[in-house]
Amino acid sequence: MEDVRNVAIVGSGPAGLTAAIYLSRADLKPLVFAGVPWGGQLMLTTDVENYPGFVDGILGPDLMDKFRKQAERFGAEIINENVSAVDFKKKPFKITADGKDYLVKSVLIATGAETKWLGLPNEQRLIGHGVSSCAPCDAFFFRDKKVVVVGGGDSAMEEALVLSKFATEVTIIHRRDEFRASKIMADRAKANSKIKFLLNSEIVDVLGKDKLEGVKVKNKDGSTQDLAVDGMFLAIGHLPVTGVFKGQIELDEKDYIVRKTFGSGPQSFKMATSVEGVFVAGDVHDVSYKQAVTAAGYGCQAALEVERWLEM
Ligand code: NAP
Repeated sequence: MEDVRNVAIVGSGPAGLTAAIYLSRADLKPLVFAGVPWGGQLMLTTDVENYPGFVDGILGPDLMDKFRKQAERFGAEIINENVSAVDFKKKPFKITADGKDYLVKSVLIATGAETKWLGLPNEQRLIGHGVSSCAPCDAFFFRDKKVVVVGGGDSAMEEALVLSKFATEVTIIHRRDEFRASKIMADRAKANSKIKFLLNSEIVDVLGKDKLEGVKVKNKDGSTQDLAVDGMFLAIGHLPVTGVFKGQIELDEKDYIVRKTFGSGPQSFKMATSVEGVFVAGDVHDVSYKQAVTAAGYGCQAALEVERWLEM
């Protein structure tokens, strides 16, 4: 008979690797499909100063390396491959990676969500050098500086409000003249004297050699202008990494995994999904917080539930 593993974890960001630490310490020998590249969004950041326990901050990739080594220390088996297919329609569940099938009793999905970028070549080059997608993480580095925020949704308003505590001037650049943001959030941003708006405008280039020095903005009438700024914060949405789960599990209208509660009372499973035995953790289901520490917290909760579910 083929070997059936207890649990597969798909994803190797803070949620997936925290789950791997808990499940390996529970002696369940988790199989982690780390993906290529592994490590999630923190691999794209430089200094992380809001992850508890690191008084002087830590580089994002170094933090993920510590997560990974801690999981491996307790016996998590990490496979550096992308999952190419899953079959959740019958048990044991089947996961395919690099042309090989793996049978598992339970699955914990922690594939995360990718930041939507504008897709400009210089933008990618300057990520971590003035270009960011996380104001709560990086606002502190922009004390007394000028920044722009791109987007017109709640995230853009929230990022601008966070940045206004540090920066001297925050300009929200939005491609339309109407906001997608809720009225209350837009009103809050409008009431802040440090926040300005540049509407009907799009960023067409990111300026600066080793660090961001400005952005080129194209207005609706076709004219362009260069704005001298030190920071550019993207708030144009996220894309959950769920392509491989389509048709296998319930996703919402934006392709995030729908988290379900299974059972009732204190013994219920709160990190469950539409398929019993498949659990979810981290940004792949979370549109609200999207922090490394919240993802790690979700990973811990989901792991404890997997452990309990396997004992039923
Ligand atoms: P969102 O609501 O989808 O808004 C994305 C914004 O980015 C839109 O204004 C969109 O413009 C713009 N955009 C998208 N692609 C673009 C591109 N290529 N170039 C320029 N602009 C582009 O995303 P979100 O703001 O991240 O919010 C996601 C969800 O989380 C929402 O449900 C939101 O309510 C929620 N959220 C809530 C809070 C809160 O309540 N505190 C905070 C953050 C997020 P268009 O408007 O022209 O499409």
